[in-house]
Amino acid sequence: MRHDILIVGSGIFGVTAALALQQRGYKTAVLDPGPLPHPLAASTDISKVVRMEYGRDAHYMALVEAALDGWQQWNEEFAEPLYHETGVTMVTQTLMAPGSFEYESYRMLRQRGHKPERLNAAEISRRFPAWKPDAYIDGFYHPRGGFVESGRVVTALIKKAKQHGVNVLSGQTVYDIVRVADRVTAVRSETGETFTAAHVVIAAGAWTPLLVPELAPVMKSTGHPVFHLKPAHPALFTPPNFAVFTADVARTGWYGFPLHPREGVVKIANHGVGQLLHPRDDERRVTPQDEHNLRAFLATTFPALVDAPIVYTRRCLYCDTLDEHLWLGHHPQVAGLTVAAGGSGHGFKFAPILGTLIADAVEGKENPWLPRFGWRQMAPETSGEEAARHHG
Ligand SMILES: Cc1cc2nc3c(=O)[nH]c(=O)nc-3n(C[C@H](O)[C@H](O)[C@H](O)COP(=O)(O)OP(=O)(O)OC[C@H]3O[C@@H](n4cnc5c(N)ncnc54)[C@H](O)[C@@H]3O)c2cc1C
Repeated sequence: MRHDILIVGSGIFGVTAALALQQRGYKTAVLDPGPLPHPLAASTDISKVVRMEYGRDAHYMALVEAALDGWQQWNEEFAEPLYHETGVTMVTQTLMAPGSFEYESYRMLRQRGHKPERLNAAEISRRFPAWKPDAYIDGFYHPRGGFVESGRVVTALIKKAKQHGVNVLSGQTVYDIVRVADRVTAVRSETGETFTAAHVVIAAGAWTPLLVPELAPVMKSTGHPVFHLKPAHPALFTPPNFAVFTADVARTGWYGFPLHPREGVVKIANHGVGQLLHPRDDERRVTPQDEHNLRAFLATTFPALVDAPIVYTRRCLYCDTLDEHLWLGHHPQVAGLTVAAGGSGHGFKFAPILGTLIADAVEGKENPWLPRFGWRQMAPETSGEEAARHHG
């Protein structure tokens, strides 16, 4: 069967692209090993943070401002609200200083007309009693932002894509992109089938460099620990007593979520350097050292969670570009090939506008956001620029 466009990968990058391209009139199919949403996909999770705060990076803040309207619309459209606007609490153990993630985010929010509420130690204890008294002395609470139930969002979007006529082909693992001269003409699947199309979009997350090896020098898969804890006092971790948080995140990597409305757990994770892992061959394990690091953090920050049982762990993979910016662009030498990946641990929040970005990239359309995310050369020593990320 021939399609106009094939999308390889049905995570959030793939499914939003498929929907947007189908709505532009292209006969579109998306291929994925499945089941969908795929259990090992980065997009498949109980929650992902939606935050505007990117330090002094106005570009990302503006992107999230646009995405937030989309999350509200999807809340109306989907059978149930999957975006929870709990607000975000970003606090520090020392006074916020110029150049720091929190200080620059606070300044940029105000510059763009938002109303973050500054917090000192007394205010943190009064409003958010789960925090260890006087352990954090500065920061802010921003009412806009929160978390989305990412796995359910992907499920809802796959359903919507099918309703719009996207051919969702689960059970298909692509192992080869067929190039004739300098043009992509088809993909081959491990089922033995060949799917032909005028254009192919590789949206295979951390697996992307396996399909487009020329990206391996600039795109790595890194594993990051995630923990689900069962609190003894759930009310302490329930909004408005508790919100999505970052705890000196650029210095420590620690961030987390309020009590999950369905799962009844508090999820905490670390946005740090991570562990280099092969997306297909390496085991994804959370180690005793990871758990030790978590308990040490809890002891300094959330006394009520220090002994809380861990009911689930996961080492989830980022598709990390060297500069930590998304990768949404045409292959410069191969016609009919676009790569949409590089979420670098912060891509999910853009979901409501991702489809348009990727469809514009496929069509080669002018889009003010795209130049930064296009195909680019990077020196091996290029360092990451995502302001909230703990770079060790
Ligand atoms: C621990 C962790 C925490 C995160 N927290 C946040 C957060 O709080 N906020 C935020 O905005 N972002 C966050 N992110 C980032 C976000 O999850 C990702 O940027 C986003 O989900 C990436 O989506 P994707 O579609 O590129 O990849 P994925 O969701 O991984 O999907 C890739 C898909 O490709 C398929 N695939 C792979 N190989 C093949 C093949 N050969 N053939 C066919 N299909 C294939 C897979 O089965 C999978 O379904 C986090 C990521 C991780 C790992």
